[in-house]
Amino acid sequence: MKIMKFGGTSVGNPDRMRSIIPLINGDEKVIVVLSALSGTTNSLVEISDLLYAGNTGEASRKNEALRAKYYKVVEDLYSSAEYKKKGHELINSHFDYINGFINHTFGKQHEKAILAQGELISTALFHNLLSENQIPSVLLPALNFMRIDKEGEPDSFYIEENFKRELALHPDEKIIITQGFICRNAYGEIDNLKRGGSDYTASLLGAAVNASEIEIWTDINGFHNNDPRFVEKTTVIRELSFDEAAELAYFGAKILHPSSVNPAREKNIPVRLKNTMDPADEGTLITSNFILRDYKAVAAKDGISVLRIKSARMLMAYGFLRKVFEIFEAYKTPIDMITTSEVAVSITIDNPAYIEQIAHDLRELGTVEIEQNQTIICIVGDFRTERTGSAPEIFEALNTIPLKMISYGGSPYSISLLIDTKDKIEALNLLNKFLFNL
Ligand code: ADP
Ligand code: ASP
Ligand code: MG
Repeated sequence: MKIMKFGGTSVGNPDRMRSIIPLINGDEKVIVVLSALSGTTNSLVEISDLLYAGNTGEASRKNEALRAKYYKVVEDLYSSAEYKKKGHELINSHFDYINGFINHTFGKQHEKAILAQGELISTALFHNLLSENQIPSVLLPALNFMRIDKEGEPDSFYIEENFKRELALHPDEKIIITQGFICRNAYGEIDNLKRGGSDYTASLLGAAVNASEIEIWTDINGFHNNDPRFVEKTTVIRELSFDEAAELAYFGAKILHPSSVNPAREKNIPVRLKNTMDPADEGTLITSNFILRDYKAVAAKDGISVLRIKSARMLMAYGFLRKVFEIFEAYKTPIDMITTSEVAVSITIDNPAYIEQIAHDLRELGTVEIEQNQTIICIVGDFRTERTGSAPEIFEALNTIPLKMISYGGSPYSISLLIDTKDKIEALNLLNKFLFNL
């Protein structure tokens, strides 16, 4: 049994949806995880933002525009009048549901219910498409088995038990369809795995059933050595280790959700990244196999804030860092990068929700400076301690870019640097030229 996850562009229009039928209709049992059609989640976020702002007129207009877009999809997707009618009813039920939130007090729970509509629609449309083509399949509602706990982390035990129970009801079905991204929280409310979360659903379900492979189908031929949105000449990497892929995803490579490698790594299940528009291409294979290369890839993560704490009390003291870390822990704020000197420590975070409270508490220990709009650049390659020469190459490449923090030696296969976000594109291009000769 394998998992096949198709992202937004892979189901972005009727032609694309039809083109994935031959990919899933083979001999092996498949669990097909679908995202919303491309652009839909963004539109649903916009509708929610308008409702938060009380702009009900504009929210309603956007909702109707999206409904109209889906009417066209339905017209083109199905050939028979019967399925077109089914499609229209389906679309109306979802957009009427969203309409129900207009003119009411709006909060987080309503927003999450609205965001879930994209995946609920795409999976139902696809299930009906298979059915119109006489291809048997089952649609399993992700809200019956995908769950996060009070900390917002996936509840793997619950997911495995409930997903297997649902699967066991359909032992002879070869195609199982479900929604990516959406889940319930510890209180049973509709929630999600954060933007890009369908990859995470795929990996969590793969781990739950011990799948033979987790395939992530997207709009590019696998993992590239650099971010193709900002760098012109990038090349595909054919093999990556779990650790390398996890590091790159965590540090901003949009092709994979930041946490999505972890469940696959824990169960040692290969992850394959494939291009729906070029299915013959082998894509990228992510396994526990580690192939050393001086430089493999670069990724960038924006939205970073740095806190610089200076304190004479740190000099020769023990227990100082514990006190610093406890403050971050109290506000449930994970730390990304850290550098220290005798009297100062710099710490980066990607969630600024409690930054003022954290800074306030840190001031008990010393002076605190905050800088926002920072970017972490992560370079993955061979940085084992016995290797020489990599640091000068990287510094030479980034000669013209002010480096705010450098983290070297924390991992044998990556280096992280902190720069100003305004320097990101230049830094990615310089690294591409000097480290990859591209
Ligand atoms: P999907 O909708 O299928 O989940 P995403 O847009 O989330 O697709 O991810 C694919 C996109 O990730 C690519 O189109 C590409 O622009 C971007 N991307 C960023 N970094 C990389 C990288 N290192 N390798 C490949 N793609 C990347
Ligand atoms: N539809 C969701 C998003 O756009 C989840 C995903 O595509 O992975 O973030
Ligand atoms: Mg994605």
